[in-house]
Amino acid sequence: MLPRLVVVSNRVSLPRKGVVAGGLAVALFEALEKQGGLWFGWSGEVAAEAAGPPRQVRRGPVTIVTTDFSRADYQDFYSGYSNSSLWPLFHYRLGLMEVSRRSLEGYLRVNAAFAAALAPMLRPDDLVWVHDYHLIPLGEELRRLGIANPIGFFLHTPFPVPDMLVALPGHRRLVRAMASYDLVGFQTPDDVRAFLGYVAGEARGEVAPDGSFTAFGRTSRARAYPIGIDAAGFAALAVSHADTAETRRLKASMRGRRLILGVDRLDYSKGLPQRFDAVECLIETRPEVKGTFEFMQIAAPSREDVARYRALKRQLESAAGRINGRFAEFDWQPVRYLNKSYDRATLAGFYRAACVGLVTPLRDGMNLVAKEYVAAQNPEDPGVLVLSRFAGAARELEVGALVVNPYDLDEVADALARALSMPREQRVQRWRAMMEMVEANTVARWRDRFLADLGRLPAGLELDYGQRMAVRPAARSSAASTSASVSSSDRTMPPAAPGP
Ligand code: UDP
Repeated sequence: MLPRLVVVSNRVSLPRKGVVAGGLAVALFEALEKQGGLWFGWSGEVAAEAAGPPRQVRRGPVTIVTTDFSRADYQDFYSGYSNSSLWPLFHYRLGLMEVSRRSLEGYLRVNAAFAAALAPMLRPDDLVWVHDYHLIPLGEELRRLGIANPIGFFLHTPFPVPDMLVALPGHRRLVRAMASYDLVGFQTPDDVRAFLGYVAGEARGEVAPDGSFTAFGRTSRARAYPIGIDAAGFAALAVSHADTAETRRLKASMRGRRLILGVDRLDYSKGLPQRFDAVECLIETRPEVKGTFEFMQIAAPSREDVARYRALKRQLESAAGRINGRFAEFDWQPVRYLNKSYDRATLAGFYRAACVGLVTPLRDGMNLVAKEYVAAQNPEDPGVLVLSRFAGAARELEVGALVVNPYDLDEVADALARALSMPREQRVQRWRAMMEMVEANTVARWRDRFLADLGRLPAGLELDYGQRMAVRPAARSSAASTSASVSSSDRTMPPAAPGP
């Protein structure tokens, strides 16, 4: 018998009927349905007064329990410590980190409240899986309440190196809380290294080569579980949306020009201003490309109640206007900037229509858009992925992507020029190497590997997949990778994450 699974995440994002499913929510829900389970988290609602008791609904064998936030919880826990302290710090943006005692207290208060609400619902043999940076202290709070179950934690964002982490007030408490989990999962081996670096140095703990560590009087294990997508499902979605009315309209509007496509949440971790500058640099340094391509950036609105995100939106509007103002002709404009979101099916068709996928975050835990772009390509005539070395996905996709340093505009412009003129044979070879990775490391495999390690399940009881996983050596320097020839012999592995 598989143990019952309890998933805790800040937002409960249930797969909705009639809507093309998102990878992570579906993968988690599948496991909950298979094992029986409970999903606990914030409802997404902010109560005008004090939040009432949690609400429960059942979907087959799955119980969903959600709780509202008070205005203060939303402000201090969500907008404050989670998204204005941890998010920038974990994405290596110390200069953007805001700290206050009040928000730290709110963060600890909400985690304690989550634990107090969840503990009475737990059964002795449950496996508990906590997700992401909002809920780091939850495991420790559950332990305080006497919960002895296996509890695992997965961080969907990057983890900062110790020298950055120590700038956060409360850093020691945070890592101590991480040590109270039985298993701590990260997106990449670099994140594991950063975490264990803190444990060994700052916390003076003991660290073993397999990621086991002892610190703060507890023994636990840290390991990389790169998240992936439903590769076959997404590829099929792209085929079925290759010729919809919308995709046809997009292609017709291109009038034979090549499409460079960017798709991101509008977030400062995604490197969007630098990306626009790189496109400007491409046109400036190679006037012959004028009129041969268009760059379309989809920037899905995100965290619009945070001033920094509103400022970024204005910055991009102005950059798009500047570039079009400088270079547009009466029958061509280089930049299409769309500040709206599209459903995954439409995106799948758009990815397939794009000759270049431009994914240049300054820092990203994984970046699923990169994997979706690969999965959506036509195997006979695939596009080229230009990918930041600072995306977790670069670990797996450097086998075929043009890997760039997103801060180096000239390098990104060079890669774009190279991508636009790459012969088909080379594109096919590079795409095959990447697609092998995307197919080997699906979101289901990520989930199953984590749960097998957490539950120490005997091999026969794993949900689905075997153990084939390899992690590539550290990502190469961008210039070297950009010009490297394709090698498809190495295999890597995946993971994914609840929405922000
Ligand atoms: N996405 C979407 N509609 C949009 C823009 C993005 O559905 O308009 C999806 C995209 O397909 C991907 C996810 O949002 O699955 C973004 O995940 P990623 O890991 O790239 O970045 P995150 O937003 O989690 O930082």
